[in-house]
Amino acid sequence: MKNLIIIIAFLAVVFSCKTETESSSNSEKINTKENEFAIVIHGGAGNIKPENFSEAKKAKYQQKLEEAITVGYNILKNGGTSLDAVQQTIIILEDSPLFNAGKGAVFTNEGYNEHDASIMDGKTLNAGASAGTRIVKNPINLARAVMDKSPHVLLSGRGAEVFAKQQNLNVVDPSYFATESRLKGLERVKNLEKNELSAFYDDAIKDSKFGTVGCAALDKHGNLAAGTSTGGMTNKRWGRIGDSPIIGAGTYANNNTCAVSSTGWGEYFIRGMVAHDISALMEYKGLSLQEAAKNVIQGKLSKIDDGQGNGGVIAVDNHGNMVMEFNTPGMFRATMDANGELNIALFKKK
Ligand code: ASP
Repeated sequence: MKNLIIIIAFLAVVFSCKTETESSSNSEKINTKENEFAIVIHGGAGNIKPENFSEAKKAKYQQKLEEAITVGYNILKNGGTSLDAVQQTIIILEDSPLFNAGKGAVFTNEGYNEHDASIMDGKTLNAGASAGTRIVKNPINLARAVMDKSPHVLLSGRGAEVFAKQQNLNVVDPSYFATESRLKGLERVKNLEKNELSAFYDDAIKDSKFGTVGCAALDKHGNLAAGTSTGGMTNKRWGRIGDSPIIGAGTYANNNTCAVSSTGWGEYFIRGMVAHDISALMEYKGLSLQEAAKNVIQGKLSKIDDGQGNGGVIAVDNHGNMVMEFNTPGMFRATMDANGELNIALFKKK
C-alpha cells in the first residue's frame, strides 16, 4: 500500500512537471509525423510587437516571407537539394530591403553595409562562409562558392571580394545596399551611444529588431542544409563579425540530427555555440529537436549575462519536424511542409 502511494505521488509530480514545461514553453513545433521534405525560414528576431505594425506593414513582411519560402518549397518538391532550396530562398530575402541582409543591411559605425553569410551541407558537413564584404550582391552565393569552389570554410573582407569576383559573382556599388531607414537606425544608435559604448542594439528602440535571414531545409533525398545571411548589428566597428558566418553558432547542419539557422545578438550566440549545441544535444543526449532547441534558447542562452543573449533559431530535423524557438517578443518566421501547408508568424503566440 505504501509503495502504491509512493508510485502515485511520483507519477503526479512527473505529470505536473510535464504540463508546466509545455504550458510555459515559447517554442513552436510544426508536424509530429514524418515529413518527406520540409522548409523553415526566419527574417530576424527582436522587439517585434503587434503595436509597432500596421496591417499594411504586417502584410509586406508576410508576403515576402511567403514568396521566399515558396521558392525553396518548389525546389524541394521538384526533387532539388536542400542546399539549393536554402540558397535560393535566402537570395529572395537578401534582395528585399525589409530585412537586414543584402539590400537593407544595417550600417556600420563608419557608414558601410558589411555582410556576413554562411551555408552548411548536412550530408558532408562541408560548409562555406564569408564575413565583412561590402560589394557582393548576394552574400549567400559567396558562402556557397566558398564551400563548393575553395578549400576553405570562411573568407573575410577584401580577400573574400577578390574571390567573389574570380567566381564571377554579381558585385555592385556599395550604395546599392543603403536604405533610408537603416541610416536613421544608425543615427538613433549613435545618439544612444553617447551614454554607453557599443550600444549597437537597444531593446528600447521602438522598432529595434535584428532582421537577419536564415533558412533550414530537408530534401526528398534525406539531406539537411542550413544557411544564414546578415548585415550584422547597427553601428558595428573594428571589423566586428557576428555569429551568422560562424559555423556552429549561426548555422549548422548534420544529417544525423538537424539543420539550424540563428538570429539574435551574435556575441551571445557565439559564446553559446547555439546551432551546434542543439545538434549535439540531439546526437549525444538523444533529445528531440524541440527539447534541444528549447534547452539551448530558453536555458543556456537566456542565462548568459542575466538574459542579455536574446534571439532565436529556426530548425528542421531529419524527419522533417520543424521548430522555431526564440526568447524575444517576436521573430519573422515561416514553415512549409511536404503537403504545402504554409505557416507564417511575426509575433510571439499568446
Ligand atoms: N546575429 C546577427 C549578428 O549578431 C544579427 C541578427 O541576427 O540580426 O550579427
